[in-house]
Amino acid sequence: MKNELKISIANLDSRGADYSGILTKDFLILPEHDTVQLISDIEYNLHLTKVIGGVLISGEVSFEYASNCGKCLEDYEQNIDKRIDIFLDEPELNEIDLTEQIREEIALALPDNSICSEDCQGLCVACGKNLNHEQCECEDDFEEESPWSALDNLDLD
Ligand SMILES: [Zn+2]
Ligand SMILES: [Zn+2]
Repeated sequence: MKNELKISIANLDSRGADYSGILTKDFLILPEHDTVQLISDIEYNLHLTKVIGGVLISGEVSFEYASNCGKCLEDYEQNIDKRIDIFLDEPELNEIDLTEQIREEIALALPDNSICSEDCQGLCVACGKNLNHEQCECEDDFEEESPWSALDNLDLD
């Protein structure tokens, strides 16, 4: 467990090698007031290959974050698997420091506008009910009459 990502490439060749591990969640320090927060450690699975002129880094970083949905205002958590493709043109180094690049990739994967799910229904603008959980009366006004509404008018005596 660590909060920086440095990889020795002294023995790296064109066949490449796999590097995987865990970065602690303080690897990415987000502002305290930010509505998006990492809630898991960051798992990385990278494949490094030495190529002409540099090093090719590909793979994935996975983590979980928590946020507050901008539509329905509920807290939610989400897993992210962020694809990594980086070319580093410093082939002379014995060790490469990917800390900044990976931090950037994670920051890019976090949402600017948090939405709990693509089909979040949000809140009713009229009554404020969370439409993911319940239907409200106001919305019925905009819809066609349901087949059951005719029953309301029946005299069942
Ligand atoms: Zn939502
Ligand atoms: Zn409503």
